[in-house]
Amino acid sequence: MRYSGWRIIKEALTGHKGWGPVWRDPAPKSEYDYIIVGGGGHGLATAYYLAKQFRQARIAVLEKSYLGSGNVGRNTTIIRSNYLLPGNEPFYEFSLKLWEGLEQDFNYNAMVSQRGIVNLIHTDAARDAATRRGNAMILNGADAVLLDREGVRAMYPWLNFDDARFPIKGGLLQKRGGTVRHDAVAWGYARGADLAGVDLIQNCEVTGMRIENGRILGVETSRGYIGAKKVGVAVAGSSGRVMAHAGMRLPIESHVLQAFVSEGLKPLIDGVITFGAGHFYVSQSDKGGLVFGGDIDGYNSYAQRGNLPVIEDVAEGGMALMPAIGRARLLRAWGGIMDMSMDGSPIIDKTPIEGLYFNGGWCYGGFKATPASGWCFAHLLATDTPHPTATAYRFDRFLKGAMIDEKGQGAQPNLH
Ligand SMILES: Cc1cc2nc3c(=O)[nH]c(=O)nc-3n(C[C@H](O)[C@H](O)[C@H](O)COP(=O)(O)OP(=O)(O)OC[C@H]3O[C@@H](n4cnc5c(N)ncnc54)[C@H](O)[C@@H]3O)c2cc1C
Repeated sequence: MRYSGWRIIKEALTGHKGWGPVWRDPAPKSEYDYIIVGGGGHGLATAYYLAKQFRQARIAVLEKSYLGSGNVGRNTTIIRSNYLLPGNEPFYEFSLKLWEGLEQDFNYNAMVSQRGIVNLIHTDAARDAATRRGNAMILNGADAVLLDREGVRAMYPWLNFDDARFPIKGGLLQKRGGTVRHDAVAWGYARGADLAGVDLIQNCEVTGMRIENGRILGVETSRGYIGAKKVGVAVAGSSGRVMAHAGMRLPIESHVLQAFVSEGLKPLIDGVITFGAGHFYVSQSDKGGLVFGGDIDGYNSYAQRGNLPVIEDVAEGGMALMPAIGRARLLRAWGGIMDMSMDGSPIIDKTPIEGLYFNGGWCYGGFKATPASGWCFAHLLATDTPHPTATAYRFDRFLKGAMIDEKGQGAQPNLH
């Protein structure tokens, strides 16, 4: 079924009896050409582009829980391409361009909203860094506008300008950045992949890998053994656990990141704001809730829930930036498991095991990367060569010392 405004009107007039399940619920087959482990945004996008863009067939996505139960449905929905380094910026700009055409491409309303993102500047040195970043963005075909203090005040007059511990001196605005309804991204890719013939198999946990003579033959799962010519792993916070089945240790640690939503408020923030002197970022959902987050919890964990000290830290960041937030009641908080790489940048690469491929290390920035990550991972799986925008995302950069240290804070997850 194709979705459209006309379809909604027709269904409204006929009692909504024509809507069917959005994807099938197939039993796993004994063998596939491609198995994608992980039914999050990246795994589903990979399967979608493998089938649709690279014309491959006999593909399955294996998800241990339900589709979208991981970080893709837990993030703060921010998309942007305001990166600095040559290894990163072309990739994230490619991703933003894919977001811009995504809803037409997979015929699903993902509520892509390019409402603009402002990274606030609080010191002269930070203004220099933001200017450099903006120039790097423009050189890579992205958009960037440097705002002075009054430019920021015109957009958000209620930020703490006058008696702030960290005075606001300006901001770097990317107008094409914004938010996307995160669950709808999982659902849209899942529907698109299913329509292209991909088997989406839920409640199917990968519990082992069958490897002989340096080559992967298939995976052991909670629903039995499934053979595969190629296996792509895209399990985000579970990367270490799943790749351990292949005997691999990764330059990745798992940490919890929490997110928060307030009660519904009248329209206040029409874009996305990030605090430049503390770790705090905020936007407002269409229902009116302020959606915000901060830093990771700072200890290794596979739990999808966080702890109180970081809630306090995030609340302090919010209060320093926008004291009005102290009047809003917090409605919910939740956590996701982050795959924190040692330089803050991702990996999309082959492994030393023939037929086994890895996608991970997204830290807390992988939602915006979903379309490009899926596309580039599908490119690697189908052609055995890296996509031009993802050539830097190799395992061997840690061996060679060619880190992509985007945040410039050192190779420790607790400093990201
Ligand atoms: C609170 C929070 C806020 C965030 N905010 C942003 C943001 O604003 N912008 C941004 O760009 N990024 C953000 N991120 C990061 C982003 O959500 C992640 O980097 C990205 O979603 C990870 O990729 P994914 O969608 O494929 O992961 P997931 O959705 O976690 O998918 C991985 C899947 O693998 C499955 N799996 C694990 N083990 C197995 C197994 N053994 N067998 C089968 N399946 C398995 C899991 O169940 C899961 O469904 C945020 C993350 C969190 C938690």
